[in-house]
Amino acid sequence: MLQPHILLVSFGGFEKKLLQRLAEALRIETKAEVQVRDIYFDLNLFYDPTRRQYNGNELMKEVDALFPGNQKVIALFNVDLFIPILTYIFGQAMLNGRIGIVSAYRLGNERYGLEPDPALYFDRLVKEIMHELGHMLGLIHCHSPLCVMRSSTYVEDIDQKHSAYCKNCLEMLSENTGHKT
Ligand SMILES: [Zn+2]
Ligand SMILES: [Zn+2]
Repeated sequence: MLQPHILLVSFGGFEKKLLQRLAEALRIETKAEVQVRDIYFDLNLFYDPTRRQYNGNELMKEVDALFPGNQKVIALFNVDLFIPILTYIFGQAMLNGRIGIVSAYRLGNERYGLEPDPALYFDRLVKEIMHELGHMLGLIHCHSPLCVMRSSTYVEDIDQKHSAYCKNCLEMLSENTGHKT
């Protein structure tokens, strides 16, 4: 399918075991080579005291500067991210860009006063990573109900979709990369 090298970088607050499991899930979904890094990073500079959230746009620039090269870099955060036009974001990436960011902050059931569900949390995280990676590989939002490229505003939206790209999106990917699926 697609052959990007993916670097999954934890910016704090993720267990090693979880990162390894995420990498494995990504390998299976994308057939790509996935490496994991866990770095210490001071997020204070990116904190907006008025919004009490962290600036997603600025973090994208920082991740880009920290990890040059041609790998696709997905940075994982455990803090609440925003961009100026939105209340919060689960993640963002530029179309055909090299950098994507994903926040797990709002993905746990506990955030909504519900019983923790580690399996559901993990699935949501995989889907959000797959979604941002899709943008990085040139995919726009898809209207197919189960496609991971469908846009999600709430966790319920994430739960409705699968973790894979639909047939149409896969076809677009193979056109973009010049590989046949
Ligand atoms: Zn999107
Ligand atoms: Zn699709």
